[in-house]
Amino acid sequence: MPNPMFVYDEKMAELVFDYCRRRLSLEPVPLDYGGTRGSPAGLLTDLMGPEGADPAAVLELFTDHLAAAVISCDSPRFLSFIPAAPTKAALLFDMVVSCSSLQGTSWLEAAGAVAAENQVLRLLADLAGLPPRAGGCFVSGGSIANLSALIVARDTAAYRRDRPGGGMPLVAVSEEAHASVGKALHIIGVGAIEVPTEDHRMTGAALASVLANDPRAGDVIAVVATAGTTNAGVVDDLAGIGSVARDRALWFHVDGAYGGAGLFAPSARWRFEGIELADSFIVDPHKWLFAPFDSAALLYREPRLAKAVHEQHASYLEALRTGDPADEDTGGIDEEYNPSDYAIHLTRRARGLPLWFSLAVHGTDAYRDAVETVLATARESAAMIAGRPGLRLVREPELSIVLFEREGWSRADYDAWSAALLASQQGFVTATTWEGRPVARLAFLHPHTTLDIVREILDTMG
Ligand SMILES: *Cc1c(COP(=O)(O)O)cnc(C)c1O
Repeated sequence: MPNPMFVYDEKMAELVFDYCRRRLSLEPVPLDYGGTRGSPAGLLTDLMGPEGADPAAVLELFTDHLAAAVISCDSPRFLSFIPAAPTKAALLFDMVVSCSSLQGTSWLEAAGAVAAENQVLRLLADLAGLPPRAGGCFVSGGSIANLSALIVARDTAAYRRDRPGGGMPLVAVSEEAHASVGKALHIIGVGAIEVPTEDHRMTGAALASVLANDPRAGDVIAVVATAGTTNAGVVDDLAGIGSVARDRALWFHVDGAYGGAGLFAPSARWRFEGIELADSFIVDPHKWLFAPFDSAALLYREPRLAKAVHEQHASYLEALRTGDPADEDTGGIDEEYNPSDYAIHLTRRARGLPLWFSLAVHGTDAYRDAVETVLATARESAAMIAGRPGLRLVREPELSIVLFEREGWSRADYDAWSAALLASQQGFVTATTWEGRPVARLAFLHPHTTLDIVREILDTMG
């Protein structure tokens, strides 16, 4: 008797496919509610027991109650944090990855999947101007990508740099760096040395000044620049920082988790000048490259340095190692290649494939246009805000994040407004802090977020 769990059940499959079809065809995706409407946990009591439940009833519980208690970050009205906007092609191919149990751990097991992922990494490396030997892998998110890259920075510095002080190694960061950078440094036992920003931007001059004047400078091994800060979309002076890093043999890491997608936009490309100097660079396709969760691209200028640090040795893994050409300096990402060697993971989902399929199907021009559309929406929204009495634009957006103030509002006013806006399903917008003051923040990412939606949201501010 075959075990029914492993037998295709046409009825259950149709139920699930029908739901997927309905969800995929929602246009636009409604916002729905998060935890603000009370907990749905009570509905789950008694659901799981020794006997299974009817799939239709369980799916209904999910669709009617659980899914409705999740704010849809792929709604064009989701303008908080960093939204998502996966293409339909990418979502569909994510189902293929799931239904095929596609993993992408090693060349031996998954050469086809790895070759496709590497094609996307190559494209991203070319956009950044990294050399032909650059390569890396996809990981689950920017946090893991930053951590994986900074481990390589630390271990490479251990033999690259003679640190006269011999104290704890330090990484130069600005206060605008993403929280995951501080967390990564804490995990790997590396300290931070803060570089003051100029109008929230880290510059090469400020870095050079810290290195010249701080008594701890001898212990600095790396610098982390941000290509699109999460709070305001500010791109650091990558050319200046990269050049200082080169001169001092510091590892130059560029965190483009959110903003790196701007490389696709000719109108914004100049802001990223200097990114080609990066020793490591990350960008999250699950943010502004229109891929589903979870996906971050991690690229190294010299993948063999990452491999020396991340490769896992175990006797059961030896079969993966036979004649791996990446062992040689010439090994590029077109050759036999194990993604497990380039980050802190081993087993991994082939999470670069949804982006691969979507890019292949739509072409890179469509990505350029989608990113440009979002940049234009941000610019035009900023102009609309600047022209409204009672509102004050905090700064011109560099990428797609717009900060603004409502005259006389306190944090409590913003929070109450934000909750009412979500309750009315007009938008999900949260406040942030800017120079010590509460301000409203619009994070644009979905090409279907229209100026009409923005106007409707602004109208609710009175
Ligand atoms: C979002 C973000 C991260 C973290 O990425 P996750 O995918 O959420 O782990 C890191 N850096 C920046 C600049 C980000 O915007």
